[in-house]
Amino acid sequence: MKPLIGITSNIDSTAHTLQNTYIQAVIAGGGVPFIIPTGVESDIQQITTLLDGLIISGGGDMNPHIFNEEPVPQLGNVTPERDSIEMELVRHMLTLDKPILGICRGLQVLNVAIGGTLYQDIGSQCSSPILQHDQKAKREYQSHAVHIEKGTILDSIAASNKIMVNSFHHQALKDVPSPLVVTGKASDGIVEAVESTEHHFVVGVQWHPEALMQNADQVSMRLFEAYMKACVERMAAVEYH
Ligand code: MN
Repeated sequence: MKPLIGITSNIDSTAHTLQNTYIQAVIAGGGVPFIIPTGVESDIQQITTLLDGLIISGGGDMNPHIFNEEPVPQLGNVTPERDSIEMELVRHMLTLDKPILGICRGLQVLNVAIGGTLYQDIGSQCSSPILQHDQKAKREYQSHAVHIEKGTILDSIAASNKIMVNSFHHQALKDVPSPLVVTGKASDGIVEAVESTEHHFVVGVQWHPEALMQNADQVSMRLFEAYMKACVERMAAVEYH
């Protein structure tokens, strides 16, 4: 049996969408991708019981009302139905202590689901100077550095105190609540990675490892390997109970 990996998807007026790179990364890592649509909150128990891991994928902005803020003028497109299913998935997967990998928007969803807050727009809400976090270069190209905290899961994966990542975001984490800890920051102080100190493998990154993998980026490949290994271990633990 391969681990069944739920991947959340985007929704627009006509379709659910998910970039192929997420699906390719899960298949390459030895998992079975299972794309989760919006609107299935009433079936959340069944879905999370079946899943061996969850990837919260990238996408648009979170609705700031979830963390008790009014929208700033620079807020982008929001999808409340996507916020809803992803928040429910995170809460249930955390309760079951099944592995979660949050990517870009997924890192932000993870933080907000645990009670954290976001900068709705770093360009207007963070003190300058800030780096370019919405790069113009292609998705598989590295852009800025991330400085990694020692002794973290990310540290063990990176095997270096500094890695290079891509960057496609204008929102970022503000308050990061326990049990999450910040494990990586950009040179301008923007939070680029977190992990839980109380769960087996709950990691969020602000960059897109699934896109960097297209260029055989070694840290991104090891991040996916570590995530898939955690899912296999979690699956084995469930089967033996
Ligand atoms: Mn960035």
